[in-house]
Amino acid sequence: MAETVVKDKNESFRDSVATISKEGRRNFIIPKKPRGRLYNLRTWFSIFYLIIFFTLPFIKVNDEPLFMFNVLERKFIFFGMIFWPQDFFIFGIGMLAFIVFVILFTVVFGRVFCGWACPQTIFMEMVFRKIEYWIDGDSNKQRLLKGMPWNAEKIRKRVTKFVVFFLISFIIANFFLAYLISMDKLIGYIENPAAHVGTLISLLVFSSIFFFVYWWFREQACIVVCPYGRLQGVLLDKNSIVVAYDHKRGEPRGKLKKAEDHDCKCVDCKEEGACKSMNSKLEALTKQGDCIDCFACVRVCPTGIDIRNGTQLECVNCTACIDACDAIMDSIEKPKGLIRYASENSISNGVKLKINARIKAYSAVLLLLLSLLAFLIVSRTDLDARLMRTAGMTYTTLPDGRISNLYNLKLANKTHQDIDFSLMLEGLKGDISFVGSGSMTVRKEAYSNLQFLIILDPKQLKGWKTEIRMGMYEKGKKIKTITAKFIGPEVYN
Ligand code: SF4
Ligand code: SF4
Repeated sequence: MAETVVKDKNESFRDSVATISKEGRRNFIIPKKPRGRLYNLRTWFSIFYLIIFFTLPFIKVNDEPLFMFNVLERKFIFFGMIFWPQDFFIFGIGMLAFIVFVILFTVVFGRVFCGWACPQTIFMEMVFRKIEYWIDGDSNKQRLLKGMPWNAEKIRKRVTKFVVFFLISFIIANFFLAYLISMDKLIGYIENPAAHVGTLISLLVFSSIFFFVYWWFREQACIVVCPYGRLQGVLLDKNSIVVAYDHKRGEPRGKLKKAEDHDCKCVDCKEEGACKSMNSKLEALTKQGDCIDCFACVRVCPTGIDIRNGTQLECVNCTACIDACDAIMDSIEKPKGLIRYASENSISNGVKLKINARIKAYSAVLLLLLSLLAFLIVSRTDLDARLMRTAGMTYTTLPDGRISNLYNLKLANKTHQDIDFSLMLEGLKGDISFVGSGSMTVRKEAYSNLQFLIILDPKQLKGWKTEIRMGMYEKGKKIKTITAKFIGPEVYN
């Protein structure tokens, strides 16, 4: 956590959470509706974000979803590429790269992600909160409504809000399920709900959880639950860009006063020096910072904090306080940006963003991980083949004197098409004799198991263990080389 920005300030605000009372009860925050340039920008960005979120499950590549995270069946699709449990290491490296990216991004840009791209913030502030303002009105009206007895107006508004909130929660739960099992499967379930009662119950449970979060839990998800929020304390430093109050410009804060409020007859007469009785007041007036202590920044804050106290864990960088303060600065004809995106160093010392050793180290690790990830993805094959001699068996001598070994070929087709293949021994002359159906087709997105004997003339064996190589061919084109050991009797060595 960046050091507090206001010197000599009472730090007691760090001992409590604005949303929890001394008795441990919830202080329900009713923020004023934000208005301003950044809020409008966030609204447009959220519309774009939500369009993507609700459109992606409908996009298909080769009749398969573009993205799917089917944890139950252990099947993952990214950009149309299927990843199987065999690709776990690619997944692991991808996750590592993602974590390092998040760390690096946070070190430099603070919690920009929370304010602009976190689904919790987007749904809370840009969907549910907007609906709430639309149904209940701005913060003052909401407080009035809360204090009202249960009359017709209150019941109508509460029921409307309840129905709309639950409906949207249900839609969100359905789309999350579509990301898990694919939209096609979900539509199949919707068309025949009686056959999928279990799924419907799970959906209702998840919808209720979403509803609870957006109806009541709200900012507590960011303050109490989110692990990313907890990490800020170790990730942010004085050079991180955060939503920050320019204490140098703003302090000492004080109410906006007109000249006559001070009994000051010297302000405009240019004879200040002559008026001894008013000198101290004049001094105070000229030393006052730009913050007029209007609390507009606090009233709009969805987590109930006062950003003038410095960077705090509760701040989700929603920028509402920037807009609120800019509007105040406009109205008192002072430059905007008293609260803005800035680093503690840039405010205190005028230092621009420094690429320090920590950023360099994280960047180097990230580059390394991304290179490894790119290599693994490029070198990843569509067909996984593992050839092994059948466990517990050595070799068999045939009546014609040749030697046979029994093999198991395990195959995983990671593509969206069936693969027909043939096998050919490389560098050795011998026969391949299939056991069972000997099907040479691996169905799309499926596993297959093939058993066969390899029969060799013992004169070709180089020891009791000889390495054999086999080529796998699809439409006459070699797609893979597989190797295994061939066991023969000691006497031929
Ligand atoms: S909105 Fe600006 S002027 Fe008003 S209290 Fe906040 S920082 Fe000070
Ligand atoms: S302090 Fe400002 S940016 Fe942070 S959560 Fe409150 S309103 Fe949003």
